Amino acid sequence: MSKDERSRHMARIRYADTKPELTVRKVVHRLGYRYRLHVRDLPGCPDIVFRSRQKVIFVHGCFWHQHPGCRVAHIPKSRLAYWIPKLEKNCRRDVENERKLRELGWRVLTLWECEVRSDEQLRDQIISFLESPGENVP
Ligand SMILES: [Zn+2]
Repeated sequence: MSKDERSRHMARIRYADTKPELTVRKVVHRLGYRYRLHVRDLPGCPDIVFRSRQKVIFVHGCFWHQHPGCRVAHIPKSRLAYWIPKLEKNCRRDVENERKLRELGWRVLTLWECEVRSDEQLRDQIISFLESPGENVP
């Protein structure tokens, strides 16, 4: 792949990543919860932040964040040397950010793009996360 081709390819991947986040936002909005987007002063700049509840939702692209066991997270064999260090760094950063958030008293829900499908299922998941008083949802 030339440099140009690669950046076009990357742009497509990034674009595909944003769609599940929009779906989640739409559902949260319809439920009437107040939230902020991409809060930069929190570790990992969480996608959706519920300050008064001290809860955040990450919507992770399966490839960029290497969803374990997911078909979409498959790395092309010819490009292993290029992708592996990059993606490993992403994953380390995710783990680190989540740990920091929990230490600061935040609760974290991670949604994977391949799982963001039916609005109904998403709605149940979001409600139980936001309404649960205590433990972190894995
Ligand atoms: Zn996935």
